[in-house]
Amino acid sequence: MKTNREAAIHNAVRTVLERVPALRADPRTQSLRSAAAQLAKKGVPGARLIARATDPVLDITRSEVLRDTFNAEKRTHAAAPASQTPKAARPTALVSGGSMTGMLTAALLAKSGQNVVIVEPRPQHIRDVRFSLRQGMIDTVALVDPTLAKELAEHAARSQFAKLVDVENGTARKSPYDRPDRPDPENAPDTGQELVDSGQFGVLIARELESLIEKYVRKTFPDQIQFVEGKLHPAKQPDGNVIWQVEKPAASKDAPPVYEDLLKGIKPSLVVVAEGAHSSTRDALGIATAPTTQPQFWTGGVIHKRDDKVRHAGLSSTRFLIDEKPTTDAKGSPTTLQSGLGLSDGHKGLWTTVQMPPGYGPDTKWSQEQINDYYFQRAALVWQTSEEKLRAAGASGPFATPGSQPTPFVLQGKAAKEAARVLPDGTVVALMGDAVQSSTSLGAAGMNIAISEVMPVLTLMESLQSGVSPKKAAASYQEQIFEHGGAWSADGVQWFYPRMSETKEQKLINAELRAIADWRKRGGASPLERLEKILAKVHIAAPPIGLEPAR
Ligand SMILES: Cc1cc2nc3c(=O)[nH]c(=O)nc-3n(C[C@H](O)[C@H](O)[C@H](O)COP(=O)(O)OP(=O)(O)OC[C@H]3O[C@@H](n4cnc5c(N)ncnc54)[C@H](O)[C@@H]3O)c2cc1C
Repeated sequence: MKTNREAAIHNAVRTVLERVPALRADPRTQSLRSAAAQLAKKGVPGARLIARATDPVLDITRSEVLRDTFNAEKRTHAAAPASQTPKAARPTALVSGGSMTGMLTAALLAKSGQNVVIVEPRPQHIRDVRFSLRQGMIDTVALVDPTLAKELAEHAARSQFAKLVDVENGTARKSPYDRPDRPDPENAPDTGQELVDSGQFGVLIARELESLIEKYVRKTFPDQIQFVEGKLHPAKQPDGNVIWQVEKPAASKDAPPVYEDLLKGIKPSLVVVAEGAHSSTRDALGIATAPTTQPQFWTGGVIHKRDDKVRHAGLSSTRFLIDEKPTTDAKGSPTTLQSGLGLSDGHKGLWTTVQMPPGYGPDTKWSQEQINDYYFQRAALVWQTSEEKLRAAGASGPFATPGSQPTPFVLQGKAAKEAARVLPDGTVVALMGDAVQSSTSLGAAGMNIAISEVMPVLTLMESLQSGVSPKKAAASYQEQIFEHGGAWSADGVQWFYPRMSETKEQKLINAELRAIADWRKRGGASPLERLEKILAKVHIAAPPIGLEPAR
């Protein structure tokens, strides 16, 4: 039997959850408190009581209310005639980009009571990149769904050690990784910096990660999440609003693309753009981007063997290569930093990326044979083994397609000026992941950061449902996303400059974040140009003139 106070809190929590259905997907007590505070301002009865309740009381009450709601819904749906399916009554959110990030966002929005249309042009997951997973990312997935987090954790190869190979000094420093913890939603990071600071969890092949998430999404939300193949096409209207269309591949090479209406006139409850670094929706909306680092040229591929130095199959390892060479380029840079990164997946392959040599650029015409020669030579340094052994194992490219080969690509940090846009009709368009900020693969955090941004998306939905104005909700979301992106930029920027002490590295990071924030506020020179100006003035780097970008 409940006391009067317990019954009043129960009613208050039920009211808040009814008004803000996204809270059903959010076990964070703070989220319940924030929504209640917002509703209290609007005079919703009982909402103020929530502020005075303790966390354990709120946790228990929330579980009770969800259980009651679930049972009631089961009864209602069983009795409802087929024509009154709840689907028609639910709001619809639109997610563009069906990588791990977009799919997890769709899952959260579906859990919060929405229908979700997710648009993705790739028919299959083919990225053969090995992703290093952070503990904080696994804990975030546990917030979305503990069973899914457990499944991802079981598929990941646990990290045994990381090794830094320092060619110039002839040293190879090995550091063991802490044992990863079990996925724990209680430990999910609140900020991007907390995520980046969290330990290594393990390594998982990108396409396996995406396939596992897709399987979960399709199985859990067959009725709520609709996958549409194609590219999102925002058809801008004269009044500034947008009709959301999907661009289907043209029937033949010379035929124009076909655009189809996606939402059949429905105004979306939210549009999430998780389209990666080359987001066309971001560009179509006129959201500017600018470089935060110099471009670097790398070659990536998978060598088909496992790291012999790990204790047993199923354990992964990470290897960084640092190679500093004297250079005589026209600018007289004191050094040229060349790096490499290896991630073994414990079973099938050594994901190996090597920076291309000085002088390699977008116009360089190397044959595949030349690329492979250089690739295996550098990979042997990364893995501290013989080139012959690696060649004998064979290598393929970053995408699992027939005949793929190690492939050069350009790596450049990039930042967008906005992470959220409010259209005249009040629709919030929220950008996330690489569409807002990208850094370097050596930072090994981009996917982790992108996934951790699903929680700010959920908070955004809660704010909108609890009556915060779209402008205010979007501004608060943008702040969180910028913080996440900044944490990744900070983690990666050191790889674009010659080596420096930890104190100087911190100064470099501060300068980079300042340059990005300044550009977002004032426009004008890009974050990279701003950073180089700061560096030339404050002499963060070794003499003679501050840092020169690694080329
Ligand atoms: C070589 C390399 C190695 C890396 N290694 C790591 C690592 O070890 N750990 C780590 O954390 N990160 C790593 N990263 C970074 C990581 O890959 C990215 O940060 C992450 O994939 C970003 O996720 P996202 O969802 O923002 O974008 P993406 O993963 O790029 O996904 C975007 C999706 O949107 C789709 N799309 C694009 N345009 C449209 C459109 N108009 N309409 C609809 N859909 C669209 C694309 O097809 C794609 O599926 C690496 C990156 C590279 C290049």
